[in-house]
Amino acid sequence: MTNQKLKIYGDNNKKISIMSSTAQFALNVFEGIRIYKTKNGLNIFRAKDHLKRLLESAEGLFLNHDYSLEMLENILYSFVEDLNLEGDTALRVILAVTDEGSWSSSNNANLFIVPSSRPHMPSIQIGAKRLCVVKWQRISSLSMPPHIKCGANYINSRLGFFEARNKGFDYPIFINSRGFVSESSGACIVLIKDKRLMTPPVDADILNSITRDCIKNMASILDLEWIEKDLKKGELLDADEAFLCGTAAEITPIGSIDDKLFGNGDVGLRTQKISDLYEKIVRNQTTVFAEWNHEI
Ligand code: PMP
Repeated sequence: MTNQKLKIYGDNNKKISIMSSTAQFALNVFEGIRIYKTKNGLNIFRAKDHLKRLLESAEGLFLNHDYSLEMLENILYSFVEDLNLEGDTALRVILAVTDEGSWSSSNNANLFIVPSSRPHMPSIQIGAKRLCVVKWQRISSLSMPPHIKCGANYINSRLGFFEARNKGFDYPIFINSRGFVSESSGACIVLIKDKRLMTPPVDADILNSITRDCIKNMASILDLEWIEKDLKKGELLDADEAFLCGTAAEITPIGSIDDKLFGNGDVGLRTQKISDLYEKIVRNQTTVFAEWNHEI
């Protein structure tokens, strides 16, 4: 697929000032939503859940705006239909305070939808990643609530990410302020031990990931048990397999954590099965969880 030049929803022509609340103080909330090519058209995956979380994030930051869930859904679906997309596309849906002002601004946030079409390869085909536990701690719900998906929170992600990269790893794993495993820089972590899927609970300072929720619901179909509990660093190394999950990460296999190799460091069998089912769901090739799909 070639890169399509795509239009943006929002005030396309307006230049946003460097002194705006969004540019200077990261006063914005956002969502990443994926659109997958299906046999009959395109599927906007779990759009309603993403838009709900966008509104919750806005409320969490006391952001004023004019949008209801229904309005956001209508705008998103008709905007995507007008795009005439050729294939897989990633969307950013953003509410940003674009007026000049400070972090305490109560001016209304404006809506932007920014599509980017790029050739898409399921994360699983890119191969297993090498992760390490980083020294940077995950932001805490008592200071910068990680369940709010706002631009500012990604500075913590950036710090952990570059610590990992500078040590020769692909992605970080953060420990939270209580000393338990939290998540990676832009994805949640799931461990596989025997027939159990184990992952930190939502109060382990993670983003309440929509993909994690998909896997939670998929577990019983795959004859796997879903367990949410605080995990110690040592339990990471005791797993049979592990993977990252997220809208962008999809199911990203983890080959190693620090110097512990899972199997031979390749994609584990159970991880592959989870990814295969996820791929079928997002491409609307199975009847299970059809309610997650909005096909156009
Ligand atoms: N944690 C963080 C920090 C993230 O940025 C993301 C990506 N949105 C996730 C987890 C995964 O969340 P989701 O499955 O909703 O994309």
